[in-house]
Amino acid sequence: MSAAREPSFRESVDLMFNRAVALMDLPPGLEEKIRVCNATYTVRFGVRLRGQIHTFTGYRSVHSEHMEPVKGGIRFATAVHQDEVEALAALMTYKCALVEAPFGGSKGGLRIDPRAWEEHELEQITRRFAYELIKRDLIHPAQNVPAPDMGTGEREMAWMADQYARMNTTDINSRACVTGKPPNAGGIAGRVEATGRGVQYALREFFRYPDDIAKAGLSGTLDGKRVIVQGLGNVGYHAALFLREEDGARVTGIIERDGALFNPDGLDVRAVHEWIAKHGGVRDFPDAIHSADGAAVLEEECDILIPAALEGVISMENAPRIKAPLIIEAANGPITAGADDILRAKGTVIIPDMYANAGGVTVSYFEWVKNLSHIRFGRMQRRQEEARHELIVQELERLDRYLGGAWSMSPDFKAKYLRGADELELVRSGLDDTMRTAYQSMREVWHGRPDVQDLRTAAYLVSITRVASSYRAKGL
Ligand code: NAD
Repeated sequence: MSAAREPSFRESVDLMFNRAVALMDLPPGLEEKIRVCNATYTVRFGVRLRGQIHTFTGYRSVHSEHMEPVKGGIRFATAVHQDEVEALAALMTYKCALVEAPFGGSKGGLRIDPRAWEEHELEQITRRFAYELIKRDLIHPAQNVPAPDMGTGEREMAWMADQYARMNTTDINSRACVTGKPPNAGGIAGRVEATGRGVQYALREFFRYPDDIAKAGLSGTLDGKRVIVQGLGNVGYHAALFLREEDGARVTGIIERDGALFNPDGLDVRAVHEWIAKHGGVRDFPDAIHSADGAAVLEEECDILIPAALEGVISMENAPRIKAPLIIEAANGPITAGADDILRAKGTVIIPDMYANAGGVTVSYFEWVKNLSHIRFGRMQRRQEEARHELIVQELERLDRYLGGAWSMSPDFKAKYLRGADELELVRSGLDDTMRTAYQSMREVWHGRPDVQDLRTAAYLVSITRVASSYRAKGL
């Protein structure tokens, strides 16, 4: 792309889509049908707070209904606008297709600074917004199922689910109207950590392929790799925490709203997270160098860069200075299409957003299925599985006795083998399988087609092919 102007988020998604469809043989009409956003609903509503009426603006975009319900998070942020919500909804379509979650793409947003309001005020605003969407079936278990995104979490999802239940008192499936709910309100174990966990599983899968590691100019495993993460919110915190505590990565930089922390020996992610919760930012955190210019830390030397805050942070302006050889887009759209061109030309390997942060929608899918089946995963099988394992252990013990102590089981084998999987383990297993399978489907295209040079184009090709075949099956 030669345009000197920085493309907007939505233009970036369209440019990346166009780059992929240029390599496909789709009928032109179908190509356009897939690209365009089907509908965006804008609502302005008033809520009486602090003695006066405040008017809020919210959006819910439906990008593609090739499968229903459509799915996508609701974001609370002051910068929310229609183009952003539509870009995010498009990404949801491609993301769901890539990880084989049976949904169309949607996204929502409310233009608000959630930190400017007390909890009870935020509840009133959220319920009112939910009411407007529910009235139009834009929150509905069979039609449109939101989830958390920036500025929202379990608490907001619980309010929305409760609002839906109040307005649909006889709907037995009402809990499936949103995902990301707390465990005691129909949620599923492992949803809060899911997107960050998915980033970890994506990197683990990447590091299983020496060819792919070499393409990024890296070698070895995740152990000891220097990681810089931007945004220590839900996604960034869990990704950084798991990579550090379970894979031995060294988190050398953390970028937040009020600047960045840097420590070449590695930062204690848990401690930084607690510091932010207590002090509202990273400033004055001990054992690190603080830099007021957070964005500059994106350009520091590291092995893996994880933008996990917001879109457009790597642009045509700073892309030439980015040194990381491997970038995993935990946030949606952190690299503009212009920056993507610059980075690809430099040989930077980018694990694209539609794959990298798909852990959230994957576990949301499990939650939705759980809500519709009205039973927790593992409830029927767990003890039966344990009983069957017990039989094998008893046989092994008999063998042990027969051999007179010449052979014995490893010390913790029995305890580990006898324990049947609980919901969290099943969720993690399903997520791991999803992330591995989706990576392999992208990788096959990346390595298998000489005209595909990067993982993002490969991801689009896989997704668009699947969406197109859905439309074809519908006779379109
Ligand atoms: P969040 O609100 O929990 O966290 C965002 C973090 O980024 C916060 O800690 C915030 O302080 C920080 N931040 C905001 N502006 C910043 C800036 N200019 N510089 C540095 N840090 C900044 O949000 P989240 O749910 O973690 O979402 C982050 C990204 O991941 C978004 O792009 C979102 O669309 C995407 N995502 C989230 C999920 C999910 O399950 N929550 C799923 C898929 C994708």
